Amino acid sequence: MRVDDSQTTDTIAAIATAVAPGEGSVAIVRISGPEAEGIGRQLFAAPGQQVWETHRVLYGHVVDPASGERVDEALLLLMRAPRSFTRETVVELHCHGGLVAVQRVLELVLAAGARRALPGEFSQRAFLNGRLDLTRAEAISEMITARSRRAAQLAMAGIDGGLQQRIGTLRERLLDQLAELEARVDFEEDLPALDAAAVVAELDAVRAALQQLVAEARQGELLRHGLRVAIVGRPNVGKSSLLNLLSQRQKAIVTDLPGTTRDLLESELVLDGVPLTLLDTAGIRPTSDRVEQLGIARSREALAAADAVLLLFDLSAGWTPEDAALRALAPEGAVLLVAGNKADAAALPVGLVPPDDGARAPADVSFSAVSGAGRDELVAELLRRCGAGSLEGVQVALNARQRDLAGAAAVSLEASLEAAAQQLPWDFWTIDLRTAVRCLGEITGAEVSEAVLDRVFSRFCIGK
Ligand code: GDP
Repeated sequence: MRVDDSQTTDTIAAIATAVAPGEGSVAIVRISGPEAEGIGRQLFAAPGQQVWETHRVLYGHVVDPASGERVDEALLLLMRAPRSFTRETVVELHCHGGLVAVQRVLELVLAAGARRALPGEFSQRAFLNGRLDLTRAEAISEMITARSRRAAQLAMAGIDGGLQQRIGTLRERLLDQLAELEARVDFEEDLPALDAAAVVAELDAVRAALQQLVAEARQGELLRHGLRVAIVGRPNVGKSSLLNLLSQRQKAIVTDLPGTTRDLLESELVLDGVPLTLLDTAGIRPTSDRVEQLGIARSREALAAADAVLLLFDLSAGWTPEDAALRALAPEGAVLLVAGNKADAAALPVGLVPPDDGARAPADVSFSAVSGAGRDELVAELLRRCGAGSLEGVQVALNARQRDLAGAAAVSLEASLEAAAQQLPWDFWTIDLRTAVRCLGEITGAEVSEAVLDRVFSRFCIGK
């Protein structure tokens, strides 16, 4: 299916680059659709003998046709259909960055007849025109939102078609079996007998592969969205010092802002390729030492929002009842790492603490936030306990939408296999098999409804 530059679609436009005051030396207004070139010609004055040819850059000015005012100096890139991202004619105006000029340019483009693009609408057109399958389109969106180099690598594997290939192949294998089965439903007598055991083996193999992908999705999730780790501990155990230590080494603090809805500090950093949001209760300074005033309510909030809890205590002061009270707050089943700080002051070795070490039994790791000793062990152990310790091998990973569909396909295959085990007639095998095929088609976009597409693309950013 290809939508060409006929009147079947309108022309859309958006700013394709990030818009921030005083930032970005270049900003791009992207126009796609049948009117793109006409709008470009109407607004862009290219001096001299420059030729309007596809895939050629023109130099000139964006001019307000009403007043003749030069709005910005710019480059214009024309990409005629179908050789563009959307496979429609695309015009890009490369203007100066910042806020004002680029927005003026967009307004002129809209006034000249384009419509403001919805989030993800360029990508949606690329998909509808057969330029991309759905997994690649989603991977592009993930590339833009990637918060670590590993997450970007994962997105790139998706853009390269790694996921499309994996899922597409599994779907083909199911379609082969479905064709065999459906043929038997209609023409059993005319065909050679079906090797039921071989069908079962194939369905089971695909089911196992899907389950494997679902299991690996968790790791992709960690790389994409990172972990929320609550740091809790009595006052002065070294929570701020640990935060400083972690952020210094990484030099990767993206934001450091007071929690918007509560008195928590949130810091974002990347540790060993995994984006982490640290929820820090260090700003909470109770007036006395009493357990009730430890800011337990706030600690509870941090704990409730976290994937993992990092409980610090002071090795030089020893394990106290207050530490025990905080440990008891960790939600059931949450990942908990108890780390003893100030190993230097307590003259203790740093690193992993053996479980049979009676003296410091409550600690899983010991470290010194001041000297940095034991820092690597602390990070490695935290990531390991969160299931993020072995992410090196992850090549492709399903996102949440894809994971749910792959999971549903695996469940349907189980139902098919159950029908097989009960030796039901072929058409009982095919019902759930067809559902599994449809689920996988929804991942790649081979079989997908408009409503699903709208939902997928609405999560993209504007201009993509
Ligand atoms: P918070 O209240 O938990 O955030 O604790 P801080 O990070 O503010 O640290 C409290 C005090 O402990 C400060 O004076 C730090 O210098 C000190 N401190 C933190 N970590 C260490 C450590 O590893 N060794 C020693 N000797 N002192 C530390």
